[in-house]
Amino acid sequence: MRGELRYEGKAKRVYATSEPGQYIVEYKDDATAFNGVKKAQISGKGAINNAITAQLYPKLEAAGIPTHFLRQLSPNEQLVRAVTIIPVEVIIRNVAAGSFSKRLGIEEGVSLKRPVVEYCYKSDALGDPLINTDTAISLGWASEEDLQRIRQLALKVRDFLTPFFAQRGIKLIDFKLEFGKLSDASIVLADEISPDTCRFWDARSGEKLDKDRFRRDLGGVEDAYAEMLRRVLRED
Ligand code: UDP
Repeated sequence: MRGELRYEGKAKRVYATSEPGQYIVEYKDDATAFNGVKKAQISGKGAINNAITAQLYPKLEAAGIPTHFLRQLSPNEQLVRAVTIIPVEVIIRNVAAGSFSKRLGIEEGVSLKRPVVEYCYKSDALGDPLINTDTAISLGWASEEDLQRIRQLALKVRDFLTPFFAQRGIKLIDFKLEFGKLSDASIVLADEISPDTCRFWDARSGEKLDKDRFRRDLGGVEDAYAEMLRRVLRED
């Protein structure tokens, strides 16, 4: 049963439970882009993102990546281990797109010679500015060891997800991860992995099957999210 509301973000609510070490995460249909300037409801999004995350996290655990995920509770809820979120968003890129393309003048779709790991400060007020690891260490957001572990885990997630999606006809362009600390200070993957937090391009047609359909007013947002759930549920 849900206890008190602990945190409300743009797309999720986090509730306490009767177990101190466990939280319930509720996925909402609310969508925002451009740091909250653009807002809408995407019907069914919460359930789809919950289902996709609930499908992927046990597979990541099996691949040796510790996560906060325990189990799905209902269409829009999952039970997770309580963590303190490290305020550093980690972006992993296989292919140039989005802010990377804009910042560097590189056409979207250009393959990168090796994956790029970027770090941003998780701050809605500042619009998640790009930082480097020195910044995170100097401001006490994470230690050098924490950041080494985060980078290693992020690349491991990438090494699992890239072929997983390729087998399902999807090019994984880039994605964002968040990590948290358990009470024993160990680092686990937290948050979600979904079309809200990844760029997915259909391998054959190049069609975008992610939040860029909403950000860029491409239409067919609900259909794209539903298609991604179908692909994730497809057996190997
Ligand atoms: N991303 C995210 N949350 C953020 C910023 C980015 O989930 O606050 C994801 C985004 O969906 C994309 C990847 O991280 O898959 C890289 O995003 P980018 O830096 O290109 O930013 P954008 O162009 O989305 O502003």
